[in-house]
Amino acid sequence: MQALSFETLAAIANTHGTPVYVYDADKISQQFRQLKTAFQDSDTRFFYACKALTNINVLKHVAAIGCDIDCSSINEAKLALHVGVAPERVLYTSNGIHFSEIQEAVSLGINVNIDSLSNLEKFGAAYGHDYPVGIRLRPNIMAGGNLKISTGHDNSKFGIPIDQLDQILDLVKKYNLYIRGLHIHTGSEIKEVAVFMQVADVFSALLPHFPELAFLDMGGGFKVAYKDSDHITHIDELGAEIARFQKNLEAQYGKKFQCWFEPGKYLVSECGYLLSTVNVLKQSGNTVFAGIDTGLNHLIRPMMYDAYHRIENISNPDGALHAYTVTGNICETDTFGTNRKLHEVREGDVLAIYNAGAYGFEMSSNYNARYKPAEVLVLEGEAHLIRKRDEFADLLRNQIPVL
Ligand code: PLP
Repeated sequence: MQALSFETLAAIANTHGTPVYVYDADKISQQFRQLKTAFQDSDTRFFYACKALTNINVLKHVAAIGCDIDCSSINEAKLALHVGVAPERVLYTSNGIHFSEIQEAVSLGINVNIDSLSNLEKFGAAYGHDYPVGIRLRPNIMAGGNLKISTGHDNSKFGIPIDQLDQILDLVKKYNLYIRGLHIHTGSEIKEVAVFMQVADVFSALLPHFPELAFLDMGGGFKVAYKDSDHITHIDELGAEIARFQKNLEAQYGKKFQCWFEPGKYLVSECGYLLSTVNVLKQSGNTVFAGIDTGLNHLIRPMMYDAYHRIENISNPDGALHAYTVTGNICETDTFGTNRKLHEVREGDVLAIYNAGAYGFEMSSNYNARYKPAEVLVLEGEAHLIRKRDEFADLLRNQIPVL
């Protein structure tokens, strides 16, 4: 599953202190290779959903291995351009944004998917047929690991509801819009290949309405493993299904449609570790709390999504196994794992929290006026500090004393 050894992680904790996020560039490359292999018989393009992790070194690495970049804000797009990714390789899949961001995206020359009738109308009035655009649709499909990460159902804010097709078509006609793509992202942690193929069916039904279509964007959401026993998305099977789907479309329409995907977790979840030191051990009835020097301010996924993250004691790998409830140091309940079997934990030991690459640092905050962690990238066997841990001045930055 994950590859960095305890020795490597311990050495990084020793050099850079804790809490620290560690990313393994090789693991990102390996995941991308797996995708390329799985989809080799299809015409597919991958855009890394960089909302998962935007450190500029990660963006650079992802772009260097041949993956394009998907963005969920104009600033993410600017970060991608900042590291030298060509505008044509950047995609902005918007949701609920002010039209000025779309204008900015157009001025930067990047690809855009629009997710509301309101912005589509403004886009038409401003650009007519001059700038190709994608439409983000809501297919009314329930999918994904849990409701919070499910985006395609009939109560979701994301995309233009598919039942408003007539209104979309009216706008397309009124402004002679150049609709080059359709986009559907049904959610995150989707195990079932069938869900993606359900989306393919929705696209198939829509194709006759959009004669200038060139790409069909199925979003991200491939499921990765958090535990050894976890089922993940069968990407080989999905790749084969997509190749078949494209062949059928070609036979039917005499033209090729490229499929786009926007993997976030698939590329960077397993590459990442959050290393944290045990501050205190506390016995409470049958529970032993291991209180660590991080919290939900650094990794919110367990509390926000009930996400399971594997935890290992990298300081005492041969110690006897005991049950611990691993908790953070924030003034809210911030439990990373309840009654986890860990090798004997002592105060001062370093614990590694796994699957911390995606939506880890990226969702971190300075809550409780604590510093955001440092970030380290392991590249060709060498550990590089890629973000300094915050310091006191960072807490004051942008504050304006008026008293
Ligand atoms: N694309 C879109 C539009 C998304 O909203 C998301 C996640 O929220 C992704 C891609 C990436 O999802 P994942 O990290 O599950 O692959």
